[in-house]
Amino acid sequence: MLSERGVYGYSAVLMGSPILLKLFEHNEALVSRVFRLIKKYEDLLTVNRAQSEVMAINHAAGRAAVAVSAPVFALIKCALAASLVKDSCFNLAIGPLVKRWRIGFCGASVPSVEEIAALLPRTRPELVQLDQSAETVFLTQPGMEIDLGAIAKGFIADRVRDYLKSQGVTQGLINLGGNVQTLGSPPGGWSVGLKKPFSTVDSLVGTLLVENKSVVTSGVYERYFEQDGRCYHHILDPRNGYPLDNELDSVTIISTDSLDGDIWSTLIYGMGVEKGCAALRHQPGIEAIFVTKQREVICSSGHQFRFTLLDSDYRLVTDNIA
Ligand code: AMP
Ligand code: MG
Repeated sequence: MLSERGVYGYSAVLMGSPILLKLFEHNEALVSRVFRLIKKYEDLLTVNRAQSEVMAINHAAGRAAVAVSAPVFALIKCALAASLVKDSCFNLAIGPLVKRWRIGFCGASVPSVEEIAALLPRTRPELVQLDQSAETVFLTQPGMEIDLGAIAKGFIADRVRDYLKSQGVTQGLINLGGNVQTLGSPPGGWSVGLKKPFSTVDSLVGTLLVENKSVVTSGVYERYFEQDGRCYHHILDPRNGYPLDNELDSVTIISTDSLDGDIWSTLIYGMGVEKGCAALRHQPGIEAIFVTKQREVICSSGHQFRFTLLDSDYRLVTDNIA
């Protein structure tokens, strides 16, 4: 536990990521309940172990529908809806490709064209069947796998915020490996850093000031590997099975719910700047900061956050979103 100007910071490693909880009171019992809550949801949602509710669905692919708990069903329903949006780059059934690429895990390698072609038909979200009344999930083809890696942290960050609220906490911040959710505000707001892509020393492009908001980033520098001089990152294009290729290094979403931020960060990363800006014009509660490979930082209108550019290698552009 670290204390700095009345803010207490508690850290742990969960979900394979460093977790940081900030509170304005020193309350070890509350902190351990929060960490237990995170672990409970990790145990339900993980696909990096043999057993979890999501793995039970995957193990039964092509054979049987599996009943899951209410929160897991609700999350899968939400992920399926995002996957079925026309031209969506978000796909909850991307599992077979994620498992084969192993990006971010040891043994990552570029699959052959034949391997990708064989896996793609098993990743169609239309082949996921939900039964609302029985709360069951059925992957209708053998070899299908759900992967909730793009939204699990957002979902869990919201559960932590709700739990803190229920315990009477009015100010707090949870950082789940870069996926930030905030409750209330210290004087001046919560300051959240925007990482400089591929920086080896954790430098920041800038900082955002937010209150009662989530800040979620999808970035190509978060998990990647290099082979034959090429860089392969962890956000895969469901249309062709390869890492999404566009002008962006990262997209950061500022929203009330971290689940929305997590879905939109992956979706908007897939859209790129132009289409992403157009999509956000219809989403008043969702704002974005794009960081391009050309070192431009493109901010949306900024009603929910204040952004300060810190790195002079980058150029701030604010007018692209009406
Ligand atoms: P995020 O960092 O939130 O954008 O999520 C990236 C993670 O989501 C990856 O590590 C995979 O587990 C998973 N993933 C990769 N590509 C996709 C995709 N197109 N749609 C949904 N999840 C994906
Ligand atoms: Mg995401």
